[in-house]
Amino acid sequence: MGHKKTSGVAIMGGTFDPIHNGHLRTAVEILDRYGFAQLRLIPCYQPVHKNQPSVSAQQRLDMVEMAVSSDERLTVDRREIIRTGPSYSLDTLRSIREEIGETEPLVMVLGMDSFLSLPTWHGWQELIKYAHIFVVSRPGWEPDLISELSEFCENYRAASPHELQCAPAGLVCLETLTPLGISSSLIRSLCRQQASIAYLLPEPVQTYIQKHQLYQ
Ligand code: ATP
Ligand code: MG
Repeated sequence: MGHKKTSGVAIMGGTFDPIHNGHLRTAVEILDRYGFAQLRLIPCYQPVHKNQPSVSAQQRLDMVEMAVSSDERLTVDRREIIRTGPSYSLDTLRSIREEIGETEPLVMVLGMDSFLSLPTWHGWQELIKYAHIFVVSRPGWEPDLISELSEFCENYRAASPHELQCAPAGLVCLETLTPLGISSSLIRSLCRQQASIAYLLPEPVQTYIQKHQLYQ
């Protein structure tokens, strides 16, 4: 493991309201299987495609920070929270591309549910100029691609996910990892019912939620 050659930056954006083991297991499997050097979790400030989060940006960030401390390849990228305003992925990709240079592979990881909504995103056809798109399956979501997305996949589909290491951007791949039917909505709903959220998310995050009485 220690001698495996790694390069490239993988990123996973999200509301992380709260972060859970579905996010974290996906991140770790991507690092192990596809050889990217690091994966950055990017909590959004203001989601563009869904309801506003029920806890503050600072609290969501605190939880992400606690969650990544167990694996040194996982980091937190705070740029969307620092930027404030609506968190457009296109702005974020441009800003990361400026930071890492033109040649480094940049890989945006999306669950199937997010990928299916891609055609509603601001400037979505431009995203692929700045990054690869790595789509992971998610229980309950089928790759029932509408015409726009299936055309997009035909145009950019990688022959293998390992091809993503060979170019800075411009490829799409769809992969099945260990399926975990965990969502932040499920956790928020369990909290409201005062049911246990144990084993769905890291223990320090669970403790933080209880201490601050979040999601009640
Ligand atoms: P909510 O239930 O509030 O919508 P969520 O669980 O979908 O929250 P997000 O923060 O919206 O969490 O997700 C961030 C990214 O992680 C998205 O691309 C999403 O598709 C992906 N993701 C979330 N949960 C999983 C999971 N269990 N398996 C694979 N991908 C996931
Ligand atoms: Mg979601």
